[in-house]
Amino acid sequence: MTTHNLKVAIITGASRGIGAVIAKQLATEGFAVAINYANSANEATALVAQLRQAGHQAIAIKADVASAEDVRRLFDETEAQLGKVDVLVNNAGILKVMPLAQHSDELFDQNFNIHARGTFNTLREAATRLNNGGRIINFSSSTVGMNLPGYAVYIASKAAVESLTQVFAKEMRGRNITVNAVAPGPVATDLFLHGKSEEQIQTFAKMPPLERLAQPEDISRVVSFLVGPDSAWVNGQILRVNGGLV
Ligand code: NAP
Repeated sequence: MTTHNLKVAIITGASRGIGAVIAKQLATEGFAVAINYANSANEATALVAQLRQAGHQAIAIKADVASAEDVRRLFDETEAQLGKVDVLVNNAGILKVMPLAQHSDELFDQNFNIHARGTFNTLREAATRLNNGGRIINFSSSTVGMNLPGYAVYIASKAAVESLTQVFAKEMRGRNITVNAVAPGPVATDLFLHGKSEEQIQTFAKMPPLERLAQPEDISRVVSFLVGPDSAWVNGQILRVNGGLV
């Protein structure tokens, strides 16, 4: 399948949650989408089938964003099957929180490998491989502004994503490529809901003045804005998308 007439988007971590909704939205807006995943092959394949049935161009590519080699192959396979990449959405992430004193070395590495190194790996490929005029959207978290106890390592790894975003935007000078990050508050996906009691979920839901959890569409619409022509002058920014939480 070669689709040189369509613009091409890679969405990391798009088998489930926010990434899957972003992939659907960008496909609907006319992008050929590469749906990256790490483990959820069934979900990724089902999403590709659903999008193709609706007449869109979509492929699924298994790659661990923490691996430089996997990320290189993610770009290679996307270029071979869909064409050169215009948009990179760095959405892949995990949430496993624990007070710093009890935090394991393994979990520290996992957080930094997926969020900081994963973003680094994809940005490094994008630097030489994204079409001029392209767009990059990284994923931070509004917890960076909240300093929630228990979230130290997760927050630190997302703070690294924010710094990578701000510097890389400047390093793209001359390419007409914008680089921004979205920092959601609580979104009703597995990542947020898993392991929380109904009471804990309600406590988070009541925090923003708009008094609800976000749905993935609340976030994908902002990504759509950052990918589209109306955001041409937004560059190097961290957009907190959280109903006024922080
Ligand atoms: P989710 O529902 O748990 O989905 C996570 C996605 O990331 C899955 O598709 C998963 O794929 C993928 N993934 C995980 N590790 C990966 C790796 N090493 N390589 C490639 N893909 C990987 O999470 P979500 O809520 O949609 O979160 C998406 C992003 O938003 C994350 O960066 C998260 O930190 C951020 N965020 C979420 C919230 C929230 O409340 N939900 C709030 C703030 C920020 P597999 O299933 O194949 O492993």
